[in-house]
Amino acid sequence: MKLFAVFGNPIAHSKSPILHNYTLYKLKINARYCRYLLDSSKDFRELFFSLGLSGANITIPFKEEIAKICDEVCGIAQKIGAVNTIINKNNKIIGYNTDALGFYKNIESKNIKNALVLGAGGSARAIAMILREKNIDVIIANRSKKNLIFFDKKGFETCLSDELSKSTKEFDIIINATSSSINDTLPLQKDILESLFERSKIAFDLMYGKKCKFLESAKEKGLDTIDGAKMLLYQAIPALSIFTNIDESRIKPHMEEIYKIINKEN
Ligand code: NDP
Repeated sequence: MKLFAVFGNPIAHSKSPILHNYTLYKLKINARYCRYLLDSSKDFRELFFSLGLSGANITIPFKEEIAKICDEVCGIAQKIGAVNTIINKNNKIIGYNTDALGFYKNIESKNIKNALVLGAGGSARAIAMILREKNIDVIIANRSKKNLIFFDKKGFETCLSDELSKSTKEFDIIINATSSSINDTLPLQKDILESLFERSKIAFDLMYGKKCKFLESAKEKGLDTIDGAKMLLYQAIPALSIFTNIDESRIKPHMEEIYKIINKEN
């Protein structure tokens, strides 16, 4: 039996095991997918191999650190410098990033010309990179400087979140790619956020599975809102395809089926 897992901290909220296990079962693949609460990425290589995993997803806050320990990083993950999907190929760890396209599928039908990304972690990197590839102007704002350096080096416009109080720019979309919603807080000061919402059209929060203050506040200001549920689905389909070598077209109907069941419950 093949084993897969999702590593992160926190991890209890993750719906990835439900999506993957249901689809593996439906495709009659002898495999299981579990979640693993990771304290630190130190010794991750040894852990990954000792657990006998064929592949794994990586989530908050380890995507950049695990990218650094991969033997090879493929596709857009090279530019992003963060991986959410890894496989064991002949005892080498190969890393991929399916978050970028997973995010973009949510907005591709919308007429978006510019975006504000809040947060500068692994997911923000994926989102900023795909937006730039699609010729959408992006500003990255983060509460602290350190994680912004990556974006500065890549030529993105960046600022500290507090500096947004001086901005008068209008945004087609504001994306909360911080982990604030997991902790039930707003990603930046309420008055600054409300002022940004007053001149924006869509609010997107990567969080899924529960109400969050960011989207509630956006709704009050009349914005269209999108949560992270479909991003989870759209990153999981290619991830399972990478794990199993099965075409995405065979995976998609089963994942969509269980996605609908999960979202009816919420
Ligand atoms: P990281 O840990 O890599 O980055 C977290 C970012 O959030 C950092 O920029 C950090 O700032 C910022 N941050 C953390 N807490 C707060 C807060 N209270 N207020 C303001 N900023 C804060 O996480 P990821 O990028 O991997 O993930 C971010 C979120 O996106 C998580 O909630 C994750 O679950 C979700 N996610 C959802 C997906 C989906 O499919 N729906 C896919 C991927 C991620 P600093 O740099 O100062 O520490």
